[in-house]
Amino acid sequence: MTAIAPLVDPFARPIQYLRVSVTDRCDFRCTYCMAEHMTFLPKKELLSLEELDRLCTAFIGLGVEKLRITGGEPLVRKGIMTFFEGMTRHLQSGALRELTLTTNGSQLERFAQPLADCGVRRVNVSLDTLDDEKFARITRWGRLPQVLRGIEAARAAGLRVKINVVALKGFNEDELFGITDWCAREGHDLTFIEVMPMGDMSEETRLDQYWPLKDLRARLAERFTLTDLAERTGGPARYVRLEETGQKVGFITPLTHNFCESCNRVRVTCTGELFMCLGQEDKADLRAPLRASADDALLVEAIRDAIARKPKGHDFDYSRQTVSGQMSRHMSHTGG
Ligand code: SAM
Repeated sequence: MTAIAPLVDPFARPIQYLRVSVTDRCDFRCTYCMAEHMTFLPKKELLSLEELDRLCTAFIGLGVEKLRITGGEPLVRKGIMTFFEGMTRHLQSGALRELTLTTNGSQLERFAQPLADCGVRRVNVSLDTLDDEKFARITRWGRLPQVLRGIEAARAAGLRVKINVVALKGFNEDELFGITDWCAREGHDLTFIEVMPMGDMSEETRLDQYWPLKDLRARLAERFTLTDLAERTGGPARYVRLEETGQKVGFITPLTHNFCESCNRVRVTCTGELFMCLGQEDKADLRAPLRASADDALLVEAIRDAIARKPKGHDFDYSRQTVSGQMSRHMSHTGG
């Protein structure tokens, strides 16, 4: 390992969580996330598997303890298991405490066991509906049975599954209790995500589909007794326990900035851009220092310089993001 002093930002927050997007490609075209016809990046723009390994290894050397792999769809990246296998050494050494991923589940039937063999213990699976027809509609290209088989394979491999549901008014409102009950029965954790203004939606659809999580929570409270949990992960999730079932349910409201004070995370896109904050555009290029030398000194210097600029909090400007399509590119590379 190259570095000694762990990463701490100017507000004394240690940087312990890294989210890395390994591809901009996806085998689904969720309407709120991507246009149906996407132009993807040329291969040379992407970090290679070796570069991804070097990058993550450098961050782990600097104190990152939790690594989340995302995309695009991380499991459609060719050779991605080589990367996961490589990260196993950091779990074994104890430097890395958790290796995990966010996936649409389409490839889990094949990869759940190999991932478990690499030391992955938990996966987040994005799933917005349990209805075949609605699933095909929202993902455009996805098929629900394939994802359900993937989730089953994950469970069979001993992985803990968290279901991530984007709350969409008029789309899955009527499934709130159905999905919650299904997760209770199957033993899956559950988190609802407030929809962000991006993807290939008309302005009207966007507004139509916005279902504030405070409304969703109020609906949940009509049936369950909700107890707020103090638990924080340093990210935008808040948790409650449903007393009747004992289930833990999370709420992610990406546009609020009520979590900045404990923010311990940064993200890297598949092209090696480091974003220090979800809600701000400031970024640092890590690909150039990665490619400039086989030694990691330049890379570590670039990471340190960037972390020194991590802002105190984000001031998310809803309107700005919808105009330029910036959010869409940013998200599809960073994986939300
Ligand atoms: N392909 C993987 C997956 O489906 O989980 C990882 C990438 S995906 C961009 C990561 C998460 O972002 C998913 O849970 C997805 O539902 C969520 N997401 C995408 N677009 C979103 C939006 N406009 N608002 C809120 N969440 C969004």
